Amino acid sequence: MNVGIFGGTFDPIHQGHMVIAEQVMDELGLSRVVFVPGGIPPHKEASSVRASAEDRFYMVEAAVAGNERFFVDRVEVDAGRPMYSVETVRLLKERSPGDDWYFISGADEVSNLLAWKDPDLLLEEVVMVAATRPGYDLSKLQHLEAGLRNFDRIFPVECTRVDVSATGIRRRILQGKSVRYLVPEGVHDIIRDRRLYDAVVRRSEQGERLKEGTW
Ligand code: ATP
Repeated sequence: MNVGIFGGTFDPIHQGHMVIAEQVMDELGLSRVVFVPGGIPPHKEASSVRASAEDRFYMVEAAVAGNERFFVDRVEVDAGRPMYSVETVRLLKERSPGDDWYFISGADEVSNLLAWKDPDLLLEEVVMVAATRPGYDLSKLQHLEAGLRNFDRIFPVECTRVDVSATGIRRRILQGKSVRYLVPEGVHDIIRDRRLYDAVVRRSEQGERLKEGTW
């Protein structure tokens, strides 16, 4: 069977992620998509990741709950150290070696593939699916051809453009603005209940007096 791996920081998971997972699954006839929230993503500054690995895992779990072909895996969260995609993919493949694996990523990330660890080895393990993202059209992938032996293992998929980013969502929350419908309903509930990304919580931890956030 064809299986998708969807790695990300998911800080938080949002509708842009849900749409590409669904549309890539449909387009490529994948039997399931395994979301893999990163514990400590090697390519991001640890301080730039706002929610804890557990909270990000919990949000992904809530987001995938309504889709019987979406799953979430703890492998990177439990590792407690940065993991590169090539390593994650090998671990997941060992668990079900009979499957063919597709790594789902936004075209913005794929255009940066030469900076990933062992990109040609990764492309031997998986087909890299580059999903379109607003601002990153697929022509931006062409420069990779010169740098990769396995360039033909990159498979672009045109998806509905959903102009949402985790950064934009965190910014809206900091500004006291609503993010309802930008994230799945269950994720919205978790962000609200745990006051994730809320300036009120972070500043109050520093002992400042603060006003209530808006929900
Ligand atoms: P940030 O704003 O913090 O960079 P992000 O919204 O890009 O976060 P990630 O968790 O880093 O979220 O993304 C995981 C994967 O999903 C990446 O491959 C990214 O390219 C892709 N992705 C994220 N948002 C979108 C979107 N709106 N459309 C298409 N792909 C997306």
